[in-house]
Formats: sequence, structure tokens, C-alpha cells
Amino acid sequence: MGADHPYAGQVAVLATKHQKLPLIGPPLADAVGLRVEALAVDTDALGTFTGDIPRQGPPLDTAIAKARLAMSAAGRLLGLASEGSIGPDPALPFVTADQELVVLVDDGNGIVVWESHSSWDVVAEATTVAADDDLGPFLAKARFPEHQLIVRPSSGTPHPIYKGISSIQELTAAVVACTAAAGGGLARVETDLRAHACPSRRAVIAVAAERLASRISARCPSCGAPGWGRIEVLLGVPCSWCGTEVARPRAEIDGCPACDHNETRPVISPDVRANPRECPYCNP
Ligand SMILES: [Zn+2]
Ligand SMILES: [Zn+2]
Repeated sequence: MGADHPYAGQVAVLATKHQKLPLIGPPLADAVGLRVEALAVDTDALGTFTGDIPRQGPPLDTAIAKARLAMSAAGRLLGLASEGSIGPDPALPFVTADQELVVLVDDGNGIVVWESHSSWDVVAEATTVAADDDLGPFLAKARFPEHQLIVRPSSGTPHPIYKGISSIQELTAAVVACTAAAGGGLARVETDLRAHACPSRRAVIAVAAERLASRISARCPSCGAPGWGRIEVLLGVPCSWCGTEVARPRAEIDGCPACDHNETRPVISPDVRANPRECPYCNP
């Protein structure tokens, strides 16, 4: 499959320190025959999940910068990277959302193709504990030890910090050390969100990688470049009573990362009308 694809047999370098190759490599190999090799570049300089170094810029820019670090280190024109954003869902502030983006940078053809996937199923727990607190209920919620933990003093000093904790023995020792170091005698225990430490994140990265693979396998009908797919959603379905346009998807525009060609594709039939309940005039 994908033998006539321009990426068939080519090699792309994946920037990762966190074991993302098994998530991102196979879908691209299956879809278009692209071979993916991992390179452990120090992407922490671009910001870390553990908060030691603040993230800079939007996730897409960070992912492209990561891919280019690996590309220049490996001397390749094709690079891949992923970048996650974990935090309160903008629409549902009490729900933690994980958006994972996977990008392909092709400097030979001057294109960037990316896809993302969001999930509310990511485990991202945190608590503050004293040395003798019972961590049992927290550990169940944090799905420990499959999900690893980070422990640090809750105040006074940022050090010591223990990452990638995956056993009760390590956890106990870390809590003892951090409560002793902390100004107020408390330690902060939280999910280690690095991809190799957080299986619920890995599942979201895998879906984003599948989406990227299928987007790369689709080629522009005009110029043949890989990465043809949705670039915009058009809203506006007329209310069945008054005709006012309701903000529901009417069509999608597919576009090419290399040329200006695009095509509008209706997602509903033209005679569909919106329910007046959704109408800003009929049901305010
Ligand atoms: Zn109406
Ligand atoms: Zn094109």
C-alpha cells in the first residue's frame, strides 16, 4: 500500500526523548511506506511538561521547532514531532483536556502537514500531602503505577524534584525527602505527563498520528502534494422558521499544503434546515 506515494521508502526523523516512535512510526509506514527513525534531541529547551522550563509559543510552532531540531541534527529534509497541550477544556473548565498534535515538516517540498486529536480521558491528577498522609485514594484516581508521578516540595524550594516515579518505595522516599525540604512540610504529588510516563496521553498521540497518516496519504488533486484535507469548516444552516443562519456545519473546505487549490464539500444536503430551538431569533 502507498508504493507510488512520494514518501514511500523515504526516511523521516522523529524528535523524541519520550518513546513516541511506536505511536507515530507504524501508522506512517502502513499508510504511505514512510520509514520513521527516532532521534533523541533535547526538546526540553522548548519547554517541558514538568514546568521546569515554560513552554514558548503555540503548540504547532513548538512541534515544528522540535521537528527541525531533529532534522538538522540528522541531516534530513523530512521530520516529525508531536506536542501536547493539557489543561482545562476551554468549553468545560472543570474537565481536563489533552490535545495532541503531530506534525510532518517536509523541507524538500516546503510543506508542513499536521493533525491533532483531543480527549478528556487523560489522567492528570495532583495533590498536596504531608509525610504520613494516606495516598491510597489519590493513587487509585491517578492510576498509579501505570501512570508515573512527580514529587516536589509544595513550597519554599523547587528542589529536590523526583520524576518518573513508578513504585511505592520510590514514592515514599520522594515524599519523605520533599516534605523535609519544603518550607511548610508538604509535598506536591502529580501525574508525570511526559509521554513515556503517561499511557492515557500515549493513546491520544496514537490517534493523532493515525489522522496524520491518513492526511498524508491523501494527495492534492491539482499538484499531487501529500497532505490534502480539511482546512476549514463553513457554518450556517438556515432556521426552518425564519431562515436565519444557525451556527452549524454546512460544508468543509479541503485544501493543499503546497498550492492554493481547494474544494468545498457540503456535509449536509442543501434542503436541511435547522431546528428553531437553535435559532438566535426564534428561541432566544
Ligand atoms: Zn429562526
Ligand atoms: Zn496542491
